[in-house]
Amino acid sequence: MSSGSLAVIGGGVIGLSVARRAAQDGWSVRLHGTADRGASWVAGGMLAPHSEAWPGEERQLQLGLESLKLWHSGFLEGLPDDVVTARESLVVAVDRADADDLKRVAQWLSAQGHPVTLTSSARDVEPLLAQGIRHGFRAVTELAVDNRAVVEALASQCERLGVTTAGPVESLGDVDADMVVIANGIDAPKLWPDLQIRPVKGEVLRLRWRKGCMPVPQRVIRARVHGRQVYLVPRADGVVVGATQYEHGRDTAPAVTGVRELLEDACAVMPALGEYEFAECAAGLRPMTPDGLPIVGSLDERTLVAAGHGRNGFLLAPWTAERIAAELKARVPA
Ligand SMILES: Cc1cc2nc3c(=O)[nH]c(=O)nc-3n(C[C@H](O)[C@H](O)[C@H](O)COP(=O)(O)OP(=O)(O)OC[C@H]3O[C@@H](n4cnc5c(N)ncnc54)[C@H](O)[C@@H]3O)c2cc1C
Repeated sequence: MSSGSLAVIGGGVIGLSVARRAAQDGWSVRLHGTADRGASWVAGGMLAPHSEAWPGEERQLQLGLESLKLWHSGFLEGLPDDVVTARESLVVAVDRADADDLKRVAQWLSAQGHPVTLTSSARDVEPLLAQGIRHGFRAVTELAVDNRAVVEALASQCERLGVTTAGPVESLGDVDADMVVIANGIDAPKLWPDLQIRPVKGEVLRLRWRKGCMPVPQRVIRARVHGRQVYLVPRADGVVVGATQYEHGRDTAPAVTGVRELLEDACAVMPALGEYEFAECAAGLRPMTPDGLPIVGSLDERTLVAAGHGRNGFLLAPWTAERIAAELKARVPA
């Protein structure tokens, strides 16, 4: 079955997810990319609507939950099992004020029936936590994935489905296809200037387990450390520590202050990490919108957009692919 030709612009997790889904629906897909792997190569890979939740951000929570359900119910099909690196998050607090904040969020979530449970014995759940850390909550349906493995597996799957690849697009007028999806993250406004998407920088570290070290934690650990946030995301060979968040144009140089704070906070939460190998630091640019919600839908008869996923592009990739698939279905060329 052929549905027509589709050009997807951007080869990050969003472009790849959209391309894969459209190819499965019978579109003849060409994926335009650049050598720069974008935010998707840097991300932590948490699929964490509950532990990201905050009163007032109900729509983000709802989208995140819809998308997490899709991760659990089909999005992982065809991807290697080991792209999933954790199946629970534990959110903990280091001091009293942090604990009060977390308690408020957990109570707000559980009052709405979400599967989160408060704990005052966090070290019974995760013995590697620093002494003195007691309070937190567990989010038992959340996942974490190896972001790079997901990107590579989606790219291979696209290739198997017959998706072809091409270089960057300078202007939409140059694109020869029945339909076009703009999915190029922070660069989307270069192709469609009305899109309000700005880069928000984030540093992350990769720490590698080595012989003699305490084992890698089994679940994502998210912590408030004296008002700052840090997370530890398990990988097969260590942990990803993230992430700072601030605006600094398109700068992707990891800055000393960001790296120092992440290391201090990570070791305050899990002192055993001090023995790990410091393998990598990197910074990426989150494509952020003014209201923190992604821009997914139609721009004109030929053009769709899937961009502006901010802190949650991995989490929201399945939901985005489904939304774009539904838009495309309504427009199969005669
Ligand atoms: C530090 C950090 C931590 C994060 N942690 C998480 C997390 O734990 N969980 C989560 O869900 N999300 C996380 N995110 C967010 C997530 O990484 C992004 O939302 C997601 O990667 C956005 O995907 P994208 O495909 O839209 O953009 P990108 O991954 O940036 O990809 C866009 C691609 O388009 C290409 N491109 C640009 N212009 C053109 C053009 N003209 N033609 C062709 N191609 C073009 C770029 O080179 C790039 O490869 C994190 C982000 C950062 C920075």
